[in-house]
Amino acid sequence: MKKTVVIGSGIGGLAVAIRLSAAGHAVEVYEQSSKPGGKLNRLQLGDFRFDTGPSLFTLPNLIDDLLALGGQGVTDFDYVKLSNICKYHYPDGTELNARADADAFAREANRVLNEPAGNILRYLHKVAEMYKLSAGMFVFKPFARWETFNSPEGRGVALKLHKLDMLRSMHGRNKRSFQSSKLVQLFDRYGTYNGSNPYVAPATLNMIAHLEHNVGAYFPVKGMYSIVESLVEVARKLGTVFHFNSKVDAVLFNKNGVSGVQVGAETIEAHHVISDVDVSAFYKNLMPGKRVPFRLKMMEKSTSAIIFYWGIDRTFPSLELHNIFFADNYAEEFRHLFIVKKMYADPTVYVFVSNKVTGTDAPKGSENWFVMVNAPVNEGQYSAEVIEKVKANVIRKLNGILHLDISAHIVAEKIGTPVTIEAETASDGGAIYGNSSNSRLSAFLRHQNRSSTHRGLYFVGGSVHPGGGIPLCVASANIVAEDIKNETNS
Ligand SMILES: Cc1cc2nc3c(=O)[nH]c(=O)nc-3n(C[C@H](O)[C@H](O)[C@H](O)COP(=O)(O)OP(=O)(O)OC[C@H]3O[C@@H](n4cnc5c(N)ncnc54)[C@H](O)[C@@H]3O)c2cc1C
Repeated sequence: MKKTVVIGSGIGGLAVAIRLSAAGHAVEVYEQSSKPGGKLNRLQLGDFRFDTGPSLFTLPNLIDDLLALGGQGVTDFDYVKLSNICKYHYPDGTELNARADADAFAREANRVLNEPAGNILRYLHKVAEMYKLSAGMFVFKPFARWETFNSPEGRGVALKLHKLDMLRSMHGRNKRSFQSSKLVQLFDRYGTYNGSNPYVAPATLNMIAHLEHNVGAYFPVKGMYSIVESLVEVARKLGTVFHFNSKVDAVLFNKNGVSGVQVGAETIEAHHVISDVDVSAFYKNLMPGKRVPFRLKMMEKSTSAIIFYWGIDRTFPSLELHNIFFADNYAEEFRHLFIVKKMYADPTVYVFVSNKVTGTDAPKGSENWFVMVNAPVNEGQYSAEVIEKVKANVIRKLNGILHLDISAHIVAEKIGTPVTIEAETASDGGAIYGNSSNSRLSAFLRHQNRSSTHRGLYFVGGSVHPGGGIPLCVASANIVAEDIKNETNS
């Protein structure tokens, strides 16, 4: 039986472990932390429970497919489709509910922003077309391989390349699509879903909006961490062995390629090694003496985040599960994120309240607030004073819009920063999505899933092809599992 070692139990590591275990491989996962999940994790502060990382859940069928490999009744994982994707608050007091139903959203935007409904419906149709044209090639297949470009999807894309809108920026396209600058800002925000800057990232990425607006936004009834719990349950049932508190120190090689990994004093032999570690950190920490690929060094990092996990001693019926409080000057916020590399004084604030769906994450009459602002990657700029200032700015912004002093209602607090994300998940600079997609070439420059230089070495997770976020991490795992199964069978 072929033995595979997976380094890291983030979503990509769990997904590939399940696929290969189901295919009869002996899979062992080594995780440096005491619990699985990586960035998709949880936190308990007294009676308040928090999901610490992802909160937006799209393409749940990708998780369903993995859980189905465990057979009937292994796990009771369940989720709901949201009727309101997100509530947007603008600095002038305007509020807009992004309804899941496209016609209802178009009517709402027409009522609140005076935007012709046809503009929204045309836009949603266009991003659906882009996704359908390209996802087969850019998301669900290994990239930069002849067989992908020569596949029916590849040939289809080549004939309709102009439809991918690669020459304009996301913002450039959105400005031409909508009359209301508030809608431009709303759709520009999808650039942040992979840590990119919508003012420079190619308009192809506007297709991210398709997933929420056309396919649907979902939420697990027991919170995001139930995704991890269910995946671990199924992986174990299929035979995956987990080792927690087990940091891999190095990948080992012989003349044929990988031969295993080193964990402290222990040498573990393996036919295949799959890294779910942030790929820059992987080369720095686990490949002593090997060269960091030039392409990796060239690319700009994605954003990181500062997150305030707050137990709040009252409820806010006016808030939804997902809420955005927009910055007044979005362009300036992104200039700070990517050029100035310091926190902008009036950042866009995201408030996520999982208790709105779960009902069990906060004591009665209270709420669990996950309050996040995008942040530049850690380059040593995050002193305690800087974080305190960000907190003050966030509170001032929320107070202004909610018309009360929110600080008087915070009864529990923990703060996550680019420094803690880096320390806890070994992600270079605390970058949430590895490298950004701030260039037309980013899809071509992204690190591939199979090593071109070391036989038996593979990569999954948010820092490699096809990109960050739960669905893409699962897609990376599916690509690697297929590669290894094909290689083993040939
Ligand atoms: C604040 C925040 C908000 C986010 N919001 C969303 C969202 O709303 N929707 C969404 O889809 N995505 C979101 N994301 C992104 C998403 O969480 C990630 O893309 C995804 O979880 C990354 O999974 P991964 O497979 O790359 O592994 P990671 O989560 O990066 O995990 C890697 C694992 O490897 C382990 N590891 C590292 N080095 C070693 C070693 N040497 N030995 C052993 N183990 C090691 C780490 O401990 C970690 O557990 C968010 C992320 C963050 C941080």
